[in-house]
Amino acid sequence: MILTNKVAVVTGAGSGIGEAIALLFARQGAKVIAADIHLANVEAVAKKAEKGEGHGVVYPVKADVSKEEDTQRMIDAATTQFGGLHILVNNAGIMDKMTPAHEITDDLWEQVLAVNVTGPMRAIRKVLPIFMAQESGCIINVASIGGLAGSRAGVAYTSSKHAVIGMTKNIGFQYTKLGIRCNAIAPGGVKTNIDLSDPSPFGSQKAGEGMASMPRTGESSEIASVALFLASDAASFLNGSVITADAGWMAY
Ligand code: NAD
Repeated sequence: MILTNKVAVVTGAGSGIGEAIALLFARQGAKVIAADIHLANVEAVAKKAEKGEGHGVVYPVKADVSKEEDTQRMIDAATTQFGGLHILVNNAGIMDKMTPAHEITDDLWEQVLAVNVTGPMRAIRKVLPIFMAQESGCIINVASIGGLAGSRAGVAYTSSKHAVIGMTKNIGFQYTKLGIRCNAIAPGGVKTNIDLSDPSPFGSQKAGEGMASMPRTGESSEIASVALFLASDAASFLNGSVITADAGWMAY
């Protein structure tokens, strides 16, 4: 019960990595606000948590992280439902159909940046006053090895995940003396429902050259266990760090 008495917000908790994090945190005793653009999916995750072992609880909230008012409601839910907030996991993210720079539209660029970058920034901006007042708090950003290399996705996703890593380092640096930790996970390929449909032929052919060296795909649970470590006191000396979880793909 590593997270007893802890309250966490997890975005994109209706599927894949976010669902695995919400359920693992609940099994470890946390009270979890599971936020997702699809309410029915986080309601289903809450039901799974009810049936699972552990003393934690999952409370579903409909929130589109690209909308300021939804982000406010999601963070408010932690304090109104559970009386506080200790951990924010910025996990919601979308792909870009492997679209290369010469094919990217303004609409797709803005959509990917809104969800993958502006969403986490706004959630962090909302939790920082809470964390600063209590002189403690933990932020975990789910980035990607696409934030460390140029060969894993299209231009918007790659740029967005590089931005998330920059954001992680900046916040880790600026708030460390206030008891706040901000770290990122950079997963490799993980079996989830992330939308890989209808990719750009040019972009997917190029990304395929990067994909060819992937040792294996991972399970969402293998990323959730890294998030649990980062949320725990065992990671007390980590700040502004990026943990790569990819079976050695980046080491290739
Ligand atoms: P997924 O599609 O299975 O889950 C993402 C969840 O986010 C979904 O439930 C979706 O409804 C939700 N979501 C999407 N847009 C949202 C929005 N605007 N507001 C709130 N919720 C929203 O995908 P996943 O693979 O579990 O992705 C989770 C994170 O992991 C993403 O940030 C992704 O970039 C990152 N990641 C995934 C992989 C991979 O191979 N699957 C690799 C590296 C990084």
